[in-house]
Amino acid sequence: MNSRDSEHMIAELREKEGYEVTDDLSSADLIIINTCSVREKPVSKLFSELGVFNKKKKEGAKIGVCGCTASHLGTEIIKRAPYVNFVLGARNVSKISEVLHKERAVEIDINYDESEFAFNDFRTSPYKAYINISIGCDKSCTYCIVPKTRGEEISIPTELILREAQKAVERGAKEVFLLGQNVNNYGRRFSGEHEDINFSELLRRLSKIDSLERIRFTSPHPFHMDDEFIEEFASNPKICKSIHMPLQSGSTKVLKDMKRGYSREWFLNRVQKLRSMSPDVSISTDIIVAFPGESDEDFEDSLSIMREVEFDQIFSFKYSARPETEAENFTNTIDEDVASSRLTTLQNLSVEILDKKGKTHLGKIYRVYFEELNQNYYVSGRSDNNMFVKVKGSDELLGEFRDVKITEIGRSTLSGEIVG
Ligand code: SAH
Ligand code: SF4
Repeated sequence: MNSRDSEHMIAELREKEGYEVTDDLSSADLIIINTCSVREKPVSKLFSELGVFNKKKKEGAKIGVCGCTASHLGTEIIKRAPYVNFVLGARNVSKISEVLHKERAVEIDINYDESEFAFNDFRTSPYKAYINISIGCDKSCTYCIVPKTRGEEISIPTELILREAQKAVERGAKEVFLLGQNVNNYGRRFSGEHEDINFSELLRRLSKIDSLERIRFTSPHPFHMDDEFIEEFASNPKICKSIHMPLQSGSTKVLKDMKRGYSREWFLNRVQKLRSMSPDVSISTDIIVAFPGESDEDFEDSLSIMREVEFDQIFSFKYSARPETEAENFTNTIDEDVASSRLTTLQNLSVEILDKKGKTHLGKIYRVYFEELNQNYYVSGRSDNNMFVKVKGSDELLGEFRDVKITEIGRSTLSGEIVG
């Protein structure tokens, strides 16, 4: 989502202000840091990075801080780093060229509605198009700062999404990647008068676009994984058979304390339904360890669900108390050493599962969409089930689909040969 916000800012700055992207810090006229505030670490990194940029920037260059930390710290950023020229929140991206011309502007209104703003076009990759389908988040997970930085959830009108996908396809992209905090809650609320359709219907309409071959999305919320969604996912050949199901905890008690809205049993039931309808689906997840009140048994529930589901990828985090969240005030916090040891245990198990699953890819033939030219004449891309695959080859493969037989497995990369 942050990457797409950055693309939107670049698009506006190129079209309206004549800027171009550079990776040479010392020659830049404008330096923008697009921040995350989901956990504490990136926030503390911001100020050290700002100091470095301020030292290295050329005379007169401007610095802007954007994104979720901008939404949440606002004017405090300018107080702590007075050389910052503007602060622009995650919900105010469309105002980028406006703030550029104001002195010390701080635009962080989380009620600002950008759901119908027609951004100029800029895409980092010509092969894959990220498309926002909603802004904000209406859930109230007790650990999460996002609703406070990105505001209430508003769906982007279907016609805008379809138009963006059509435009991307006309420029050569064969894959769209839909983005939202709860994509399968699509249609919950539109800002103006718009046809009210749900996520399954949005997927059906998108898949009618000729020349669009692949649809991916993130994140679906386990609570909203109804049968209609799973059936559409399984039966629509354009939807890639890989899904991110952010679990957070394997303990129903902890899920309740997190206000996730589902139980361990519901999650397992959805996994089973998905796998029965789409046997090759790959499933990834997010897990938080040491949420306040997580007992040894609760933690064991997270480990046991990992063994049961055998996720294809796990993003694991130590709970990080965030300002303005409900859990910030929970007093039954877990000691730091217990939290660290749980994270290590969970990550070790994750590696064990991945190693076991990795072996099952050997000898398989995957249809790969090539997107990147790497060093030493390797070209890489993703299989339908989201495996990162590389083969020996040249840029002629970029933007092309090929059948690849997997000959070597690594933890995050599969290598293979083109067979068709
Ligand atoms: N909307 C998505 C998640 C967005 S945040 C969803 O509901 O799943 C991405 C991930 O960061 C979350 O899935 C969660 O695992 C993690 N995360 C969010 N807040 C956190 C916190 N306070 N401490 C640790 N991890 C957190
Ligand atoms: Fe945060 Fe929960 Fe919304 Fe995801 S669904 S962004 S975790 S509040």
